Amino acid sequence: MSRVAVVTGGTRGIGEAISVTLKKAGYKVAANYAGNDERAKQCADKHGIACFKWDVADFDQCLKGVAEVVAKLGPVDVLVNNAGITRDATLKKQTRKQWDEVVDTNLGGCFNMCKAVWDGMLERGFGRIVNIGSINGQAGQYGQVNYAAAKSGIHGFTKALAQEGAPKGITVNAIAPGYIDTDMVAAVPPNVLEKIVARIPVGRLGKAEEIARGVMFLVADDAGFLTGSTMSINGGQHMY
Ligand code: NDP
Repeated sequence: MSRVAVVTGGTRGIGEAISVTLKKAGYKVAANYAGNDERAKQCADKHGIACFKWDVADFDQCLKGVAEVVAKLGPVDVLVNNAGITRDATLKKQTRKQWDEVVDTNLGGCFNMCKAVWDGMLERGFGRIVNIGSINGQAGQYGQVNYAAAKSGIHGFTKALAQEGAPKGITVNAIAPGYIDTDMVAAVPPNVLEKIVARIPVGRLGKAEEIARGVMFLVADDAGFLTGSTMSINGGQHMY
């Protein structure tokens, strides 16, 4: 019996690579997204992945969305909390709205989605949750107090929930990607990006597939002793 995986923000960027890699490995995949119907359709047509639209920042939508996935694909065994946004500005210029949007989506979304799948995982005595954090949650980044706070929160959330899941067969881990070549990074001004790449020992941006590889390692059925950890996949940037 193949396991069911939900990947939030699973229709493009890192999430798409995770969805595709899980599908190739035999998982039944539900890729969630927020509003970009065109990219979701492309993802569905190209890879044959079931796509589901809801806002992870909205608690009720998450419950409804997961119920729909369960009805179509079956109970959720694997959850990858990948959906994330940036609304960069220095604290001086950052608005309360920019703070709320990022914290509600990147951290609140993780809470909402874990709540939506948790009881089912407890009942079945099995679950794999992977939360996508960020190197900027570990190290901070100029102009990203909202994003760094939310991503740093992901790492604490992961360690706390891992303790609740450990005796119940549910593992909870995080991945902290470095800079990965996706739409999100394409929004960084070229002169800033040049300086960022210069600080990556591997000498290039990461590929979305390189994050998916880490997810596969963490969600494996035989990875039950691996919980509460953060896997840094960043081209060696953490060595600075
Ligand atoms: P992209 O911007 O390329 O894709 C984001 C995905 O998340 C899209 O599918 C988008 O849906 C979805 N999404 C955004 N907001 C919501 C929401 N409220 N509800 C549901 N889905 C939502 O991002 P990346 O692939 O670059 O990033 C993926 C994750 O990795 C994020 O959490 C990001 O913070 C993290 N990360 C990325 C790094 C990078 O260098 N790229 C580095 C470190 C961490 P839609 O298409 O509908 O907009």
